[in-house]
Amino acid sequence: MSVEAMVSLIRSRGVRDVPLLRALRAVPREHFVPKTLRDYAYNDYPLSIGQGQTISQPYMVALMTARLDVSPGEKVLEIGTGSGYQTALLAELGLEVYTVEVLPELHAQARERLTALGYEKIHFRLGDGYQGWPEHAPYAGIIVTAAPRQIPLPLLAQLAEGGNLIIPTGPPGRHQILWKVMRVSGEIKKIRLGDVAFVPLVHDPSTSDD
Ligand code: SAH
Repeated sequence: MSVEAMVSLIRSRGVRDVPLLRALRAVPREHFVPKTLRDYAYNDYPLSIGQGQTISQPYMVALMTARLDVSPGEKVLEIGTGSGYQTALLAELGLEVYTVEVLPELHAQARERLTALGYEKIHFRLGDGYQGWPEHAPYAGIIVTAAPRQIPLPLLAQLAEGGNLIIPTGPPGRHQILWKVMRVSGEIKKIRLGDVAFVPLVHDPSTSDD
């Protein structure tokens, strides 16, 4: 599939946001997958990126980004840098991006790759994203690309007033739900966006504060 075919498919499935479609055309997805899988880079399914992790399906990346509802210049936190593809898309949209990855090798690779592609303003952190990145909070948007059992309280605490958190929750496997969580006048509201399958958010409970 070509980049145009990928974007057409995403459009036909209801994601119509013009700056987002432009950003999807601009990020060279073939640079974010292993060399042996380049021919499949724009196909609409997840691909293995090593370490038992995957680069998310393009439609899912587009849907989650659209539901974040953020504007250029706003601060966003991404949990699960992985390949860095979602990170690049957020940067391409003119957002101030903070991204956290727990696996050292993926963190280092993504940083190197994004820097080489000219994305110079992204802030990278190696660590447990369950804790968010409190030093730069609050965030207008938080996007989580691995599934915890429940919504991490530290992430709710780091969401700005009027901000949105897009996150899958549930046990490993296929019984997960994608949520849009909003902070409106200090209250937390949740909308269910659909059923999804993500890799688990790994988390050491001994470092948790809930
Ligand atoms: N957005 C990425 C998705 C990668 S898969 C992409 O499209 O390439 C999810 C990623 O979350 C993996 O890289 C995994 O290592 C990472 N991850 C899992 N648990 C994490 C945690 N507690 N903190 C930060 N990253 C985590």
